Amino acid sequence: MLFKNFAEFCAVIEDISSTLELAARIADFIKDMDDDDLYNVVLFLMGKVYPPWDERELGVGVGLIYEALRVATGANKSKIENLVRDTGDLGLAAEELLQTKKQLTLFEEELTIAKIREVFDTMSSLSGEGSQKRKIRLLVDLYVSATPVEAKYLTRLILGEMRLGVGEGIIRDAIAKAWNIESDMVERAYMITNDFGRVAVVAKNEGRKGLEKLRIELHIPVKMMLAQVAESIDEAVKEMGNVAVEWKFDGTRVQVHWGNGKVTIYSRRLENVTKALPEIVDEVKTSVKEGVILDGEVVAMKDNRPMPFQHILRRFRRKYEVRKMMERIPVNVHFFDILYHGGKEVIDLPLEKRRKLLESVVENSGRISVAKQVITSDAAVIEKVYNEALNAGHEGAMLKNPRSAYIPGKRGKHWLKLKPVMETLDLVVIAGEWGEGKRSHVISSYELACLDPVTGKLVPVGKVATGFTDEELEEYTELFRPVIEYEEGKKIVFQPKYVFEVAYQEIQKSPKYESGYALRFPRFIGLRDDKNVEEVDTLERVERLYEGQFKARKTT
Ligand code: AMP
Repeated sequence: MLFKNFAEFCAVIEDISSTLELAARIADFIKDMDDDDLYNVVLFLMGKVYPPWDERELGVGVGLIYEALRVATGANKSKIENLVRDTGDLGLAAEELLQTKKQLTLFEEELTIAKIREVFDTMSSLSGEGSQKRKIRLLVDLYVSATPVEAKYLTRLILGEMRLGVGEGIIRDAIAKAWNIESDMVERAYMITNDFGRVAVVAKNEGRKGLEKLRIELHIPVKMMLAQVAESIDEAVKEMGNVAVEWKFDGTRVQVHWGNGKVTIYSRRLENVTKALPEIVDEVKTSVKEGVILDGEVVAMKDNRPMPFQHILRRFRRKYEVRKMMERIPVNVHFFDILYHGGKEVIDLPLEKRRKLLESVVENSGRISVAKQVITSDAAVIEKVYNEALNAGHEGAMLKNPRSAYIPGKRGKHWLKLKPVMETLDLVVIAGEWGEGKRSHVISSYELACLDPVTGKLVPVGKVATGFTDEELEEYTELFRPVIEYEEGKKIVFQPKYVFEVAYQEIQKSPKYESGYALRFPRFIGLRDDKNVEEVDTLERVERLYEGQFKARKTT
């Protein structure tokens, strides 16, 4: 299939806002594709080149795209920057640059989906010296062959932001519609494979039956089961009768696959973080029976207390000098569930049975252990566990229904979390500002936005400039550098990628920001590297918290 057809299709659906119509159009578009095109197109529509758990990545940032566009079109850097500033989108800028490029079309080849895939795979296999140059060369070749509309969507695809409003739900419904299968069935297949490309190909060739046969496999991550907030201990007891109570550890989630001689570890976002945790890999190999998938929490410990969980995320990001980092930030893993055992998935077994299996495969060592669990219907016992966890520096307690199955990707009432209330917001960083004086080399303030789910837009709610240590300011400046879209004086506009957790004293109504709200005295709590942009807090939650402030005042 020609990439042009794909790009032109994107241009058509970009203006459609009805989710029903989007799903119907996509269903029509993908229905008769061959397997390879289908696989690629489904991922590309979501702005993805690989499923999230695949270790491969293009490694192409805004800088390389600028350079490739410069070489391919002859435009200088400031012209490109001006265009990006005017349009607010590197994709639109690329389209415009290609429109004004001299016509030299004679020897250019027509781009196909297969060709784009081939170039992407080559790019992601490049590393080390000279790889940047080769990537630019490959990109230049693509831009030289691209029509303006192809350049627009190619650029957006490389940046992982198609701006089509096509999320997982729409792709799920489109696959369901194309081959006449219930959406729930498609959803289940996705939770298990985490690869909509594969789900689409199976749906096309084998229909509902094929999807039904998909099972959890070693070294392919499963979406994690999530928890709801517990109303109260008494409610939980009333709902569940017997409650399985565990500590809610202050760390971050990991899913550990151990089989066929290797260990793979996935983060909550299902990224492969195996290389960042070599000591856990070694320990799993010696203390866990092979042929299992385990679910747990990794915790960084210092002097017997958990360190803030951002330290673990720092370890996840670390690609070099991992061993040095291991000493500075020592980690333990507490396993609390098992999804696969003895060559088959065990998620449909009740928690109490899974727990027995878990205990039978993990030998507690200092570094890894099975999370302690108490089964009780006594509220006082639950409160005791909860207080123990808080005293040990952890977050609170998890209350689980011992008879419940493991439901991948669901935030259900079978797992309830109990923790002290401190309302913070998780917001996406959209812009920043260089500091002054001795801070002029670091980004010292960050502009934050929440998600308006109706329009899918990110709307600003304020700026945060306090709560950072000097070390963090340096570190985040380096983290954000590759996602700079353009600069204007001291102001920097970022590609929305990173999520900050912030605390604040109050939410105020304010015309200053597009959301209509502003945070008073916002303070940085941490980088939520475990969250995607789509998972940030919504405008609706900001509104609710704003309203809640008055209720709280009235009752005090
Ligand atoms: P939250 O992130 O606030 O929605 O809380 C759910 C998270 O708590 C899970 O994703 C885990 O990372 C974490 N957690 C800590 N201890 C446990 C536990 N014993 N069982 C389940 N999740 C836990």
